[in-house]
Amino acid sequence: MRCQVQDSRTGQDALTDKEPDNPLQRAERDVVALGIAVAAVILLLGTGGSVVPQTVEALLGRGGTPDTVLANALLLNIALIIFGWRRYRELTHEIAERRSAEARAQVLASTDPLTQCLNRRAMFEATEDIRSRATMRGEAVAYCMIDLDNFKQINDMHGHVIGDAVLVMLCDRIRAMLPRDARLARLGGDEFAFVMAFPAGHPERVDDFAIRLFESFAAPLHLPEVTIDVTLSVGLAADHEPDGTIGEVVDAASLMHRADMALYQAKKQGRNRYFWFEPSMESELRFRHQLETGIRRGLSRAEFVPFYEQQIDVETGELVGFEMLARWRSPQFGLISPDIFVPVAEEIGLISELSERLMEKAFADAREWDDALTLSINISPVQLRDPWFAQRLLKMLVAANFPARRLEIEITESCLHENIGLVRSMITSLRNQGVQIALDDFGTGYSSLEQLRNLPFDRIKIDRSFISELREPTGRSRLVEAIIAMGRGLDLPLTAEGVEDEDILNALKSMGRLKAQGYLYGQPEDAAAVRARLKVAGKLAAARPEGSAAPAAQAAATDVVSHLQRSAHP
Ligand code: C2E
Ligand code: CA
Ligand code: CA
Repeated sequence: MRCQVQDSRTGQDALTDKEPDNPLQRAERDVVALGIAVAAVILLLGTGGSVVPQTVEALLGRGGTPDTVLANALLLNIALIIFGWRRYRELTHEIAERRSAEARAQVLASTDPLTQCLNRRAMFEATEDIRSRATMRGEAVAYCMIDLDNFKQINDMHGHVIGDAVLVMLCDRIRAMLPRDARLARLGGDEFAFVMAFPAGHPERVDDFAIRLFESFAAPLHLPEVTIDVTLSVGLAADHEPDGTIGEVVDAASLMHRADMALYQAKKQGRNRYFWFEPSMESELRFRHQLETGIRRGLSRAEFVPFYEQQIDVETGELVGFEMLARWRSPQFGLISPDIFVPVAEEIGLISELSERLMEKAFADAREWDDALTLSINISPVQLRDPWFAQRLLKMLVAANFPARRLEIEITESCLHENIGLVRSMITSLRNQGVQIALDDFGTGYSSLEQLRNLPFDRIKIDRSFISELREPTGRSRLVEAIIAMGRGLDLPLTAEGVEDEDILNALKSMGRLKAQGYLYGQPEDAAAVRARLKVAGKLAAARPEGSAAPAAQAAATDVVSHLQRSAHP
């Protein structure tokens, strides 16, 4: 039994064995016992030579009584030898026990407790081991990384017990398919890997295996409570080239790294697929890494700036507002489009922070404009997953003293596939404060008429790809006409994006009341350019003393504050 005692010198808890049977004490005793037994054998040899014949003679009645002291010494010797022998047996037993305990500990240290396959640390050694054996046989080795595509949803929807059961079943399925000397590991979370040898120059054997793996996961996993569909992404790397020549891979670590890069590619290309490593992935990943560090640094150095694109009333030709479009003024890469950095910022969890910094700047910029000009801001689906998004946005409006009625947020159809209940309640609470909600890039996603009818949008933005059809000689597009008719039917105002020339504008003019934006009116500009433009047009806010808000802004801010107070104390 082990017990914890306070170490008087260090004052820390120390693990001490209190019972006399502690291994150290036993070992010390064993040394003493061995010494005694050896001494006993020597004595026995010394005394036995004279005492044993004397005793035998006495027993046969032929001699006198044996020397009592020597006889006792002999008996003691015999007892000591028996004692030494028993200790020896105990000792060998103890050693055997200790060895098996050590072996058990080693298995535990190299095994994933949930799935019983190898863990990350052990996989490294297993890969080296398989590689050295394969090299001796002239074979190649493939390392395969597997990642479950939808494990987070499974955990969120069904709980961790089901999540664990899925991992175990997944592992069992893969294990059942693997060749006998392949090794399977759980690297952590929902990430698995296996390593297998294959005949050099025949990577199609590994392809066959990967295809069978995907086939086996085409069928859902049947658990007692639920049936769950899983899809996998897989990355493969081999230590030989496809033609069988020895590749550049020098060790298990680089093999694993390459498979990881291939897995990343599989994820990026839309999941539920597998990719072999290719050298171009390495440079792509390096660029991606530079982007990530650049974004992190850029955020702290305020390198992200809002640009603004004009929005025009088609009928009157009047400027009615701006859409804010993010730009990154990167010292390393130059002026970067949001199409490049927004998806990365989303993936590395920085989009909310990035967007909020931009909004703060945009609110400050727009406060200098005419109070009638609106500001549209693009919101990422990732931001809408935050249940506090609406609250945070309203708080920012208050802090910036920016009237909610001047703000329009643009959300894309992809937001509607996520948590529709949450999106609805967010939209509702923002609208209650006067924020307008536009459905962006309409027509490129899959929003149904039902969703359009049920979600309280204030505007639909027709995607650029449809508007460009108006450039046709006829100046007509059935699709644009259908979208406009639908918008009218639902009583929703419309904005046409990507108005690049007069032909498109003229076509739109015949379609009723619309807002339009696009390169015809100019490229997106930075805050200073917008300010200069508005100054010329006489559309800057009337100068007011520092620190005081416009009356409308003040009223709106009061409204928002009272709403926030109500939601904090229901
Ligand atoms: P979007 O919301 O559809 O924005 C319109 C994009 O089309 C902008 O590209 C704009 O520069 C471009 N554009 C405008 N007029 C024309 C035209 O006449 N012809 C053509 N060919 N293009 C035109 P940009 O600025 O590169 O933005 C790309 C996308 O990035 C935006 O698409 C928007 O979805 C996203 N985005 C921009 N800023 C933000 C932001 O702050 N947050 C988030 N989450 N996304 C943003
Ligand atoms: Ca937009
Ligand atoms: Ca758009």
